[in-house]
Amino acid sequence: MSSISPRSDVNRSAILSRIGAQGPASRADLARALSISPALVTRLTRELIADGLLIELEHGPSSGGRPAQRLGLATRSGGAIGVKIAPDHLTLVEVSIDGRVVRAHTDPFEASAPVAVGRLADAVATFIAGAEHSALVGIGVGLPGNVLAQSEGIVDSTQLGWSQAPVGSALRAATNLPVLIDNNVNALALAESLFGAGRGHSDFLVVTIGTGIGAGIVASDAIIRGSSGNAGEIGHIPVAEDGPLCQCGAHGCLEAVIGEQALVATAVAEGVIPADSGIEALQGAADDGDTRALALFSTAGRLLGRVVAGLTNTLDPELIVVLGEGAKAWEHWSSSFEPALRAGVIPRKRGVSVVVERWQDDRWAQGAAALVLSTPFDAEGVSGEQGQLVRERLISSMAGEHA
Ligand SMILES: [Zn+2]
Repeated sequence: MSSISPRSDVNRSAILSRIGAQGPASRADLARALSISPALVTRLTRELIADGLLIELEHGPSSGGRPAQRLGLATRSGGAIGVKIAPDHLTLVEVSIDGRVVRAHTDPFEASAPVAVGRLADAVATFIAGAEHSALVGIGVGLPGNVLAQSEGIVDSTQLGWSQAPVGSALRAATNLPVLIDNNVNALALAESLFGAGRGHSDFLVVTIGTGIGAGIVASDAIIRGSSGNAGEIGHIPVAEDGPLCQCGAHGCLEAVIGEQALVATAVAEGVIPADSGIEALQGAADDGDTRALALFSTAGRLLGRVVAGLTNTLDPELIVVLGEGAKAWEHWSSSFEPALRAGVIPRKRGVSVVVERWQDDRWAQGAAALVLSTPFDAEGVSGEQGQLVRERLISSMAGEHA
């Protein structure tokens, strides 16, 4: 490949990523979507076609004027792997370059075992052995924890019981592929911006409810990770002075009050559900109209609404996307969440949109794969050397040079 200027590289990558994520597009669509001049789009797409990365497709449907020729990715062989790590199971997916899931698998997993990282590497290598794509460009991993640098992949996670776990190097050694690792809520926010409700929005929040309470923050088209990768830990906003002990060591965190375990513990203590039951029992009781169960969800919804109102006033998002395991019971949260949110925001933000998505595990894993698929869009260089390797593999798979 010829050497090109960094700025052109960003625009070329943006064109590939746009078509990869959203399907074939005309040159005019690309110019509009990426805010680059039609002349530059024409020049860059000519180069991409010459390099074998893009192909000209049939003419698209006309909306009155002359039908525009559409461009598509030349690859049929390129794919990526996404892995979601939970304390007791792994979810693995294989996706095509356009983000479509072609294969999914779940494995039991014991994160607290001393050999957990080795077992993880074995499970990923086994999954890859059955890959449908002949050219995998990389592995994306999402997990509940802190990752200082995506490309190094050293993980601290209280939920998994991991301290400085060398996940990135273990997976690279086992698979010989580039590996990008991030907090699973950040990965989800990325998937939302590429494939979900966040598409087309520059500023939005992803709020997850379930075992943990978290947020992914997208501001001015970038995921906000903070100085040490810890941005968005809204589960640890202190909300109750002298409240219950949180797993982070503090008292009265949001998660220690409205996280799944806290809701179940309160419901058991109040005799709403039997001692050995879980969140499904509590949801079932609410579905059946049990007023004490409904009151628990209502209190949780109100508290979450107030916290999200504070975030909305701070970050000024256009949209709030709510998801996670807990969203299955959203109808019981929403009746108090909505009024608390609207009452807590400044007048200009009263109309902020709220969307609820009931994504399952494989969607979280698809988010992890999006870490890989979005690297051509990584103008900030967050993905570092691993992202560069992903780009090289992507380009060589498209050019057919890679076996
Ligand atoms: Zn906490």
